[in-house]
Amino acid sequence: MSDGPSYGFDTLQIHAGARPDPATGARQTPIYQTTAYVFRDTDHAAALFNLQEVGYIYSRLTNPTVAVLQERMATLEGGVGAVCCSSGHAAQIMALFPLMGPGLNVVVSTRLYGGSITQFSQTIRRFGWSARFVDFDDMDAVAAAIDDDTRAIFCESIANPGGYITDLDAAAKVASDAGIPLIVDNTSATPYLCRPIEHGATLVVHSMTKFLTGNGTVTGGVVVDSGNFDWSASDKFPSLSAPEDAYHGLKFHETFGPLAFTFHGIAIGLRDLGMTLNPQAAHYTLMGIETLSLRMQRHVENAEKIATWLEGHDHVAAVTYAGLKSSPYHDRVARICPKGAGGLFTVRLKGGYDACVKFVEALEVFSHVANLGDTRSLVIHSASTTHRQLSPEQQKAAGAEPDVVRLSIGIETAEDLIADLDQALNTAHG
Ligand SMILES: *Cc1c(COP(=O)(O)O)cnc(C)c1O
Repeated sequence: MSDGPSYGFDTLQIHAGARPDPATGARQTPIYQTTAYVFRDTDHAAALFNLQEVGYIYSRLTNPTVAVLQERMATLEGGVGAVCCSSGHAAQIMALFPLMGPGLNVVVSTRLYGGSITQFSQTIRRFGWSARFVDFDDMDAVAAAIDDDTRAIFCESIANPGGYITDLDAAAKVASDAGIPLIVDNTSATPYLCRPIEHGATLVVHSMTKFLTGNGTVTGGVVVDSGNFDWSASDKFPSLSAPEDAYHGLKFHETFGPLAFTFHGIAIGLRDLGMTLNPQAAHYTLMGIETLSLRMQRHVENAEKIATWLEGHDHVAAVTYAGLKSSPYHDRVARICPKGAGGLFTVRLKGGYDACVKFVEALEVFSHVANLGDTRSLVIHSASTTHRQLSPEQQKAAGAEPDVVRLSIGIETAEDLIADLDQALNTAHG
C-alpha cells in the first residue's frame, strides 16, 4: 500500500509504515530480533555512520520492526517522523533533551500524570533543567511564566487523572508568540480522539503502554515531530541548529530540514541515552494499534454511560468526565476531541478517604492497578498511590485529592461495569 493522505484512520492504523516483508513476503510485520545488521561493504558502513545514508547499524538506534511503528505513529499523528523509546517517561526526556541545557526551563501544566509531575519537579533538576508549573486555564499566566531561558511548553491533551481538556490552540499560540515549541502528551486521547499537531503542537509524546498497545502488556513511548518548527529561527536550539562535533560539524536542521528533530532523536538521543524500544514491545504495540479506533469508540461509549450513571448516584459527590454536559470542559471537547472525551475520569465519593479505600477493595470486575488505558476496567485511589509523593496543594491542582478515585473504563459490557460499581458504592457506604 502506498501511504496516501487520502486513506482514512481505520486503514492507516493497520497499514501505515508496513509493507510485505521484502525477504519472505510475510504479511504481518516480522519481529526483527537482531542486534546488528551486516554491512554491504566498508563504504556502506562509513556512509551509515556519517548519516549520509539511512539504514540499519545497531538496534540501540534503529530496528525494522520499531521503524514500522515509528512510521505508523508519525502517520496517525500527522507528523513527519517519530522516535520510539522504552517508556512514556523516556519519551518525555527524549523530547526535552535536544531543547534543554543547564539553567534552562520548561513551562508545564499543573494537570499532569503524577509520575510526570515528579519527573519534572524533582528528577530533571539533576540535569540542571527546571519546570515551572502553571494552571493552563490561565493562558496569561502561562505566557507570564515564559522567560529568555524557557525552551518549551508541555501539557497533556486530556489530562490525567481528571479528564481535564487543555485548550491546545491557545497553548500553541502562546508558544509560537514566544518562539518555542509546544509539546503535548497525547497518551489519554490517542490520535484517534485528538490530533495535537492540527492544533499547533510541535511535538507529540505518548506512553504507548496505555491505549495504543491497549491491553497492558508492554511499556513503550514515542516522540512524534510535526516538522513545523524552525529550529534555526533563533539561537535557542543549538543542538539542532549549530554544528554537531560528534558528526564532523553536521548541522541537523540545515542537513535534515523538517526531519531534524527525528534524526537527532535517533543519532544522538537513542545513541547516547539508550532508552531504546525493543522489537518485541514494538510488535505488541503494532498489534494493539490495528484495533485502536474500535477500542477507543467503545472506551468512549462505556465511559459516557458510566459517568452519566455515576453522576446520578446518591453516594457520589462529583464526576469529572469532560464528556458530561455538566463539565466545564464540555465545549472544549467538541473542538479538541470531537470523537469523545476518552475513557478516563475521576469520581469524588461522599464518604471521603475511607469510602474510597473500601470502594476500591469491594470492586470485582475493576482491577486495582497503577495503569490506565487497558481493555480491562481499572481503578486507582490516586492520593494513596500515583499521586502519593505530591504535596496536598499539588494533589489539589492535579485533581487527585484524598476523596477522589480514578477510573479507566474498559471495553467490557457496560451493564456489568455499572453493576460492579453499584455494589462497591453500596459496600463503601454500608
Ligand atoms: C503512563 C503515562 C506516562 C508515563 O508512561 P510510562 O510508559 O509509564 O513511562 C506519561 N504520561 C501519561 C499521561 C501517562 O498516562
